[in-house]
Amino acid sequence: MLSAVEGEVESQPRCPHHPAREAVRTCERCGRYVCSWCEHDGGQCRDCVRLSVLAVPDSRARARWTLRLLEVAAGVSLLKVPLFFWVFIALEESGRVPGPLVDGVTYLSLLFALAAQVGFLMWVHRVVRQLKAQGADLETTPAMAVWMWLIPLLNWVKPYQLMKDIAEKAGGAHFAASLPLSLWWGANLLARVLEQVDQRVVRKMGTVEGVPSSASLVFAIFMSLCSAGTALACVQIVKALQARMDQRREGLEGVDTPIAEDEATAA
Ligand SMILES: [Zn+2]
Ligand SMILES: [Zn+2]
Repeated sequence: MLSAVEGEVESQPRCPHHPAREAVRTCERCGRYVCSWCEHDGGQCRDCVRLSVLAVPDSRARARWTLRLLEVAAGVSLLKVPLFFWVFIALEESGRVPGPLVDGVTYLSLLFALAAQVGFLMWVHRVVRQLKAQGADLETTPAMAVWMWLIPLLNWVKPYQLMKDIAEKAGGAHFAASLPLSLWWGANLLARVLEQVDQRVVRKMGTVEGVPSSASLVFAIFMSLCSAGTALACVQIVKALQARMDQRREGLEGVDTPIAEDEATAA
């Protein structure tokens, strides 16, 4: 009734989604009133945030592909351990090495590691795009999140900081601490250090015409273990983070339930 509406004009503005709650601000995009439940990073109302987030394609499909590729890459790396151990024994006993087999498995494993890395970066790109659309205060762009892996020196530090930042913005500090980020990055760095030492030092000592030395085989075994560890930790990270991204998306799809107020949005 008119009189009721007139009576409300003087009182505090109300949230269109929660008529019982007072508005704390107006949306920067559409100008509608927003209550503290609906208030969102970036100053937009939940409808506007939902529209811009739902306009960004989902990262679920990329996560699925990345997980399959990471699992295969980890499997091939783990297979290399007994294989190279056997080659090592054969080399010690007979001085001969099944070269084509070693090369074949090495290239196969490189191929899967590369495919997994490409899938992972495509997924990271999409996750950063989504979080930024949700108003998360990430200090990177989706493109930069990919390029930082290719820039020498920076790529020893930045990708770890990025993943930690993504995890904190997506699920809060406790969630980020629950992910095996240090294990993942530690194994990754160790594999890279071993590879450098192997290429610069070990391969130059006592290698006869393409036949790998015993020392090089031992290095290859350790590198395989590190690569498998990196891939398996990465599987855990992608699974947990994608589950968080799914939750956030579902929170935005529901109209009447407030978005989960975890540390991520409170921070
Ligand atoms: Zn709005
Ligand atoms: Zn509200």
